[in-house]
Amino acid sequence: MSVSLPSLPDIASGAVVERVGRPPIFKMLFNGSWVTGYEGSTFPVDTPITEEVVAEVALGGEKDVDRAVKAAMKSQDKIREIPGIERVQIFKNAAEILQKNLVYFAETIMVEAGKPKHEAEGEVRATIDRLLLTLEEARAIFGEYIPGDWSEDTSGKVALVIHEPFGVIASISPFNYPLFIAASKIIPALLAGNSVVAKASSENPISLTLLACALMEAGLPKGVLNVVHGPGRLGELLVAHPDVDMVSFTGSTAVGKRISEVSGVKRLHLELGGKGMAIVLDDADVKLAASKCVEGALKNAGQRCDAVSAILVQRSVHDKLVDHLLDHMKDWKVGDPRYRETKVGPLINRSAAQRVHGLVEDAVEKGAKMLAGGELKGCYHEPTVLDRVPRDARIMWEETFGPVIPIIPIDDEDDAIEIGKRSRYGLDSCVFSNSFYRIWKVAKKVKTGTIAINDYPRHGVGYFPFGGSKESGIGREGLGYSIDEMTYLKTIVFNLVPGGLGKIKRRKVSPS
Ligand code: NAP
Repeated sequence: MSVSLPSLPDIASGAVVERVGRPPIFKMLFNGSWVTGYEGSTFPVDTPITEEVVAEVALGGEKDVDRAVKAAMKSQDKIREIPGIERVQIFKNAAEILQKNLVYFAETIMVEAGKPKHEAEGEVRATIDRLLLTLEEARAIFGEYIPGDWSEDTSGKVALVIHEPFGVIASISPFNYPLFIAASKIIPALLAGNSVVAKASSENPISLTLLACALMEAGLPKGVLNVVHGPGRLGELLVAHPDVDMVSFTGSTAVGKRISEVSGVKRLHLELGGKGMAIVLDDADVKLAASKCVEGALKNAGQRCDAVSAILVQRSVHDKLVDHLLDHMKDWKVGDPRYRETKVGPLINRSAAQRVHGLVEDAVEKGAKMLAGGELKGCYHEPTVLDRVPRDARIMWEETFGPVIPIIPIDDEDDAIEIGKRSRYGLDSCVFSNSFYRIWKVAKKVKTGTIAINDYPRHGVGYFPFGGSKESGIGREGLGYSIDEMTYLKTIVFNLVPGGLGKIKRRKVSPS
């Protein structure tokens, strides 16, 4: 059955050229106008469901990046001059637009990312929640009052410490949550008074385009949000642009490293790759651990930075865990994401699926036992369980980003902690145990940005801070936490003593 994007809602009419019998062309957004690039070229976007081309997208070049950044620079005052409460209203309006077009947004995600329908709908709902939580998020912009009379040096002065927007923020987002991750950068950036140039993954840039349509329709001034489309090279031009003040990037560790090389002296917020290890100890509720680990490993076909991508299980409960895992696996049917019964859709493209398969083959060659799955067909990789994975297998250390569950027997929590120390990643982990002391020991010793207890790592709308240590990134994302990344602190010092002497006459206090 052939796949195409759903018919366009009214909000997208300016952003798209519809063509009879051919895929539509999606444009870029500069200074409030939807345009094709200087060169007039396009690139195809296909769906991983059938690998058919579903859209053409305007291909940006160096001049387009410059045009977008200039538009953002010129528009900075426009966003700053909108009173906070009116900025919040724009996001509320956008939430309403997304709610009204929820089916359209979800089907677009399903087609361009291959995500099962219920997961695509969940992504749209999370984006709506994020838009509706902006009044709460705005508290992070408020700042601080510091009386100076607690130090001799500053007595007679007070300081106001305020959060100032950086200026132009480059937002670069990955393919795995094409709507939500773009939104979780653009919303706090604008809320804090920055203007934005956004680029999505060239695998699936349509969701970002639609989000921009919704924000413009919701009342965002022209030029405050600009969108460029194109390959990674374009992202590099964007982050290196001298008029970009701050970069908010989510993607792989390799690209994050490249961005820190080329971007120059500017604030970087980098949300990078992960290798989520689940530690199952012998006093855990093993049935619960199995169901959580399967869900944590297979949701979005394992294409989550926080996915459970290795299970370290204490030997004495290994067999019991494996039995429960295999039982739960039966519910995770792989197939066409348009069908309700499908829980695991295709990976983003053929080469991603082949890379995952290469990790499976490497583990099996080195002695792992395949207990389920293992089949590769085009972009589809069957959910796979690998048991007794040797510690020199690549899948122990490399990000999987696919529906594979490697199981590694361990002696105890100290063994697990040692394995964690060797990982270059430090994004997420989880531990299953019923002993407070063992949980506390692991939680304190594991070097990940988040550790979930008796649950798999998940971050939803971003109510809790989220981010990595080691090569998993720099900075924190989440409600309010993103504002901290996207503003700089300005200290305004008031001298309260007439004549500017800056000192208050002090009373002598002597010990009684
Ligand atoms: P990616 O290949 O690193 O690409 C991410 C974004 O960067 C895309 O928009 C990409 O554009 C762009 N890009 C590529 N090369 C660039 C360059 N040299 N300079 C600037 N931008 C460049 O990642 P992905 O495959 O889309 O996403 C999967 C990765 O994202 C995984 O490693 C995953 O762990 C990570 N991720 C992390 C988090 C987190 O919060 N820590 C969340 C989600 C995903 P093109 O697509 O056009 O190349």
